[in-house]
Amino acid sequence: MTPKPENAAIPRTPEATPILELKAVEAAYDDIIIALRGVSLVVPEGSMVALLGANGAGKSTTLKAASGLLGAVHGAITRGEILFRGQSLKGRSPRELVREGLVQVLEGRHCFPHLTVEENLRSGALAHRIGRSGVRSELDRIYTYFPRLTQIRRALAGYTSGGEQQMVAIGRALMARPRLVLLDEPSMGLAPLIVEEIFRILRSLNREQGVTFLLAEQNARVALRFADLGSILENGRVVASGRAEELERRSDVQAFYLGVGAKDGAPGRHHPRLGHRHPATTADRPG
Ligand code: ATP
Repeated sequence: MTPKPENAAIPRTPEATPILELKAVEAAYDDIIIALRGVSLVVPEGSMVALLGANGAGKSTTLKAASGLLGAVHGAITRGEILFRGQSLKGRSPRELVREGLVQVLEGRHCFPHLTVEENLRSGALAHRIGRSGVRSELDRIYTYFPRLTQIRRALAGYTSGGEQQMVAIGRALMARPRLVLLDEPSMGLAPLIVEEIFRILRSLNREQGVTFLLAEQNARVALRFADLGSILENGRVVASGRAEELERRSDVQAFYLGVGAKDGAPGRHHPRLGHRHPATTADRPG
């Protein structure tokens, strides 16, 4: 198995103060399509947490529930509670949450295609009164972490590669100086080398700048290699959670999510629910 990138000294344990907590959250679209069925999840401050699962498992819904964006897609939290820095999210708008340090990067690397890379980045600071010099120093910080973007700062975002657009989308979110970034499928449709580059940058931002990341990913292999903790969703339920390296070692996770032993190297498509053989590590367990 590929070695984990080096760890800094800061402990990132499940015992650290939670920045985000989901407590038995249920969510539905249009009042009828139940997408989350009691999801409990803890994201410790300063950690990188991977939220894994197949297509339709509920990863995006979980992120949107936490960022307040569910209402925009006809969804709603029907039960349970979400806390950001210990405070309930109830009644707080996505705009307020961004101001308080919680931002989401949506799936599909949304950029403004007719604006340049730098204009896209600048747009991330619009909601913040940080002044010209503040914007400049944020841009410099982002260019330090994404040197590729420095080279293409004047290019129209629509003409840049998929990997570069993903970097722009992440960079724009970082302009808001967030404490917690919810990142939906950063690896989607990208070549392995660029995925590796992006995850290395996320890791550095996490370690050096203290940004907490909750990453929804179908690419369990790369996500578990970089994350501190992971949770696996199936049909709107958390079926396993724990330290990333422990999840990586579990034979059922290897078989169903990491493609170990699969003939074509691809993760299994049809699989029984996880968690039965490891009740001690499932988030669903009582207590
Ligand atoms: P993907 O990687 O395909 O986005 P996911 O794990 O993020 O998968 P969700 O997008 O959260 O899964 O979907 C969870 C369930 O909710 C699925 O059954 C999906 O069809 C449904 N769903 C998602 N968005 C909507 C929507 N806007 N309206 C109705 N149903 C939705």
